[in-house]
Amino acid sequence: MFIEIFFLFIMGLVLGSFANVCIYRMPRDMSVIKPASHCTNCNGFIKWYDNIPIISYLFLRGKCRNCGSKISFIYPAIEFLCGLLFVSMYFVFGFTYSLLPFCLLVFSLLVITAIDFEFQIIPDEFSFMLMIVGFVTSFFNPFLGDVFGQRILNSFIGFLAGGGSLFAVAVIGKWIFKKDAMGGGDIKLMAGVGAFVGWEKVLFAIFIASVFGSIVGIFLILLKKIIKRQEIAFGPYLALGSYLVLFLPSPNVIIGYLMVAEENFLAKYIFSNLQNF
Ligand SMILES: [Zn+2]
Repeated sequence: MFIEIFFLFIMGLVLGSFANVCIYRMPRDMSVIKPASHCTNCNGFIKWYDNIPIISYLFLRGKCRNCGSKISFIYPAIEFLCGLLFVSMYFVFGFTYSLLPFCLLVFSLLVITAIDFEFQIIPDEFSFMLMIVGFVTSFFNPFLGDVFGQRILNSFIGFLAGGGSLFAVAVIGKWIFKKDAMGGGDIKLMAGVGAFVGWEKVLFAIFIASVFGSIVGIFLILLKKIIKRQEIAFGPYLALGSYLVLFLPSPNVIIGYLMVAEENFLAKYIFSNLQNF
């Protein structure tokens, strides 16, 4: 178990390094492959030994070897977080086939969160990739049922539920508020997530995102710190909700549990009253 976790953590660190490249370059319409990593201040290329996740940052004390400008703490933080996210998937799936596609999902959620937070865009590349990978790997995805055919169907239903529900919100929101209430990026993202987790979990993820989004929104209004930009990105909340549902049981299981608890409570109440009677 330890060796698997260690391997996943290292893989997460390395891909976290690539996540930083995506986060910086994709919203700026730059290629994520070429050119090789370079300092954003002096443009000097970064040697491989200065590009080792976290270790190089610590060794260089957060400064570019060439020009000495400060390297943001965000870079090693993203690498570390990506390592942790990958390891967390081991605790959901173990060392099974689903580990790989779901590592890709959490990697995408991490990059999307960072880009949407700063630029209010969700790159289509990620959403489309999630739709395809979610659907293609659905036949061994334990979230989507027990049987081969059922899983493929559930992946497609999840895709429709995730995209369709936010599309409905967008249409109704536009009709009521006469302006865009929901971005197309959010719709495509949740269609992709739905293909991975099925309709119950994707709707649950949207619900969690709405709750967190509302809490933070109210908090910001109370603090009168509503940011000047018109739209507040919903993507980070959707990503958070999508991540959390990987660990939570499906809503019907939770409701079922609550109903059983309720019945027990009622049974006890009736019983105690009968005794009094
Ligand atoms: Zn530099």
